[in-house]
Amino acid sequence: MSADAMRIAVFAGDGIGPEVTAEAVRVLQALDLPGLELVEGDVGGAAYRKHGHPLPPETLEIARSCGAILFGAVGDFSLDHLERRLRPEQAVLGLRKELGLFANLRPATVFKGLEDLTTLRPEVAAKIDLLIVRELNGDVYFGEKGTRTLDDGRRQGWDMMSYAEDEVRRIAHTGFKAAMGRSKKLCSVDKANVLETSQLWRDVVIEVAREYPEVELSHMYVDNAAMQLVKNPGQFDVIVTGNLFGDILSDQASMCVGSIGLLASASLAEGTYGLYEPIHGSAPDIAGQGLANPMATILSAAMLLRHSFGLEDQAARIEAAVGKALAQGVRGGDLGGTDGTRAIGDAVLAAL
Ligand code: NAD
Repeated sequence: MSADAMRIAVFAGDGIGPEVTAEAVRVLQALDLPGLELVEGDVGGAAYRKHGHPLPPETLEIARSCGAILFGAVGDFSLDHLERRLRPEQAVLGLRKELGLFANLRPATVFKGLEDLTTLRPEVAAKIDLLIVRELNGDVYFGEKGTRTLDDGRRQGWDMMSYAEDEVRRIAHTGFKAAMGRSKKLCSVDKANVLETSQLWRDVVIEVAREYPEVELSHMYVDNAAMQLVKNPGQFDVIVTGNLFGDILSDQASMCVGSIGLLASASLAEGTYGLYEPIHGSAPDIAGQGLANPMATILSAAMLLRHSFGLEDQAARIEAAVGKALAQGVRGGDLGGTDGTRAIGDAVLAAL
């Protein structure tokens, strides 16, 4: 790839994936980005049907030849009978593993005019503008695990939680860098009052903080963070946390915002490489009907420009266009409106 090439893999996937991805692609193309090249590849159930695998080698090759991936969604209930390694969802896990995607970024923002859609009080919801940085490759999900029978005959399940210091350091840097690009506030969430893993986490985050003197670092126990996210979410800017706590808190923060059709995410590798996708799935119930809200995927494309190509201005332009379309009253079915996928894409393009 030449230095000025902007090669992006587009993996649309299943269900509403192709519909929402098409709108995000239109938005990227409308920006007239120099050197933009979009390369399509098969993932998920669509890839299984064509190649016999949800993440075929040719798709991985495309991914490796690009600077970032724009991902739609995977999931196809008609393939749920397949053995686990062949199910559509394995495409995401495979890409994470093969490409070393270790940091998950999930912004949560309440767009103007949508304050009433969350279950929080509108004046509380209006203040939400935060980013959760979650470690993706470690923690209790990846530790040794098993079930055993104790001497007294009782069955016991166990999962080992651990973080090595380099794993914490790496995600801490991601958190501090993200904070530097926003309002320079980072809250590290752990359970250091009870867990040794968390004590090490906290110690390492404090060490890394010395390299970011401009960032104001705070620490919060995860139980309190869960409460504060609904009590006063406006206090947070960037939150950095481990895999388990981040899994739960990022879903909680998403719901504080109100709609699944507006939520973007990024999974980043070391350096600038990343995979960008809406947090929703393939929504088989509305697939192929032009009803899906493409805004989450369009906002994922904005994250892609920001994190993988350093194009902050273009990213902000897309985000502003989505905000403008919403302010003009454009609403997908997920927001209680009747606008279809293409009409929403048109409105965002017009606002650009
Ligand atoms: P889902 O997110 O696909 O859908 C949940 C509900 O939200 C549905 O009613 C759907 O119609 C609605 N919805 C989702 N996105 C929408 C959009 N953009 N606009 C309007 N409405 C939208 O979750 P699910 O139904 O639990 O899962 C469906 C499939 O997706 C499953 O196979 C699941 O494994 C898969 N999945 C994939 C990913 C991914 O690709 N990363 C993530 C979650 C689920």
